[in-house]
Amino acid sequence: MPHDPAMQYRPETLAITSGYDPASASGAAKPPVYLTSTFVYESAAQARDIHEAYFRGTGPMAGKPAYIYSRLSHPNLAMLETRLAAIDGAERAAVFASGMAAQSAIAFQYLRPGDSVLHCRPIYGGTDALYNHLMPHFGVHVVQMFDGCDGDHIRARADLALAQGPLSLIVIETPANPTAAITDIALVVAIADEIGARTGKRPLVVCDNTFLAPFAQRPIALGVDLNMTSLTKYCGGHSDLLSGGISGRADLIEPLLQTRTMLGSHCDPFTCWLVLRSLESVAVRSERAMANAALVAAFLRDHPKVAGVTYLGFLPEGSVQRAVFDRQCQGAGSTFSFHLHGGQAEAFALLDNLRLVKLAVSLGGSETLACHSATTTHYNVAAADRAAGGITEGTIRLSVGIEHPDDLIGDFAQALEQV
Ligand code: PLP
Repeated sequence: MPHDPAMQYRPETLAITSGYDPASASGAAKPPVYLTSTFVYESAAQARDIHEAYFRGTGPMAGKPAYIYSRLSHPNLAMLETRLAAIDGAERAAVFASGMAAQSAIAFQYLRPGDSVLHCRPIYGGTDALYNHLMPHFGVHVVQMFDGCDGDHIRARADLALAQGPLSLIVIETPANPTAAITDIALVVAIADEIGARTGKRPLVVCDNTFLAPFAQRPIALGVDLNMTSLTKYCGGHSDLLSGGISGRADLIEPLLQTRTMLGSHCDPFTCWLVLRSLESVAVRSERAMANAALVAAFLRDHPKVAGVTYLGFLPEGSVQRAVFDRQCQGAGSTFSFHLHGGQAEAFALLDNLRLVKLAVSLGGSETLACHSATTTHYNVAAADRAAGGITEGTIRLSVGIEHPDDLIGDFAQALEQV
């Protein structure tokens, strides 16, 4: 039975049903991989009509599934975009070759020389480099905000940005890499509205939802304009691909598709197929990984060799961050940091003695990964900035996977004994 879009299925169901109709492919229960770079037309007139539909959105082929060349779009990409939009609760989605390809397309599409951008800090290193190293070469002014839960602070930083040029984008990542700092999404959206009313130009609010992924945080429902996710992480979920998605209103996503065509940063058919399949299980994988993370975090917090654990589930009751977390998140995620008493020697001793947990960067895969933040993910960050972000020489970042929690805790217990 083809999926009936009129039925209001929940996102967990849409993750399995949306985007692919077996009737379109000889009844195959799962979609074929369309390994082709170009598409054959029935006639010259049909080729013209398909191009008219793509470039103008008009004519007899408008709104019908038809393809020109795989850099523009292809069937596996269209299936994945339909499914991602359905899961995120958005009108439309665009899928790219990586999370950074997605974030870069937003910057190239929605910024012009003289514009300003306001972004949260901390933020993922690649996003930081895009806005602070690359965009200034194109005449873009960049301002940071440091407390995403404090309206007065955000308004003051936005005024600083507005003083330099029209504010086009407010880019947030919440929880942020690596400290799990939280930004109040609804507050940022309200401030964007205020700026729009005051200046006549409302900045777009872009939210990076990579850390919690679609089943633990729903930025579109909270009012963001563009919801960006590195699909490489929880959505892909097996540490075997790179991809990135953006969801939002159709009028904001469609220009990004044109930009993607120019940048050549579409996602290839096999990777789209893998992500489409992985999306079917992201809800249950997230649930299991988050349950495991809660147990591992509690074990580490109580261990005498551990100085502290930076885990969202431990945000102090009564704090502003806790209130925002309770309001906007449906789970605490499964990526967090812990800090050993001592320094690099102790952290290395722990990492070198782990037998089950793998030593690698990245996050959101089925397997548990650990890394020493100061010498890997934050190698290029100045020591003072690392310290300001709460990263010590004894800090280890963990991405907890879906193994049996007792095996994970057993591995940490035996490795901590060697420290
Ligand atoms: N956003 C966040 C929060 C990330 O952690 C990452 C990668 O680690 C990215 C974006 C970039 O994603 P990708 O590696 O798929 O380009």
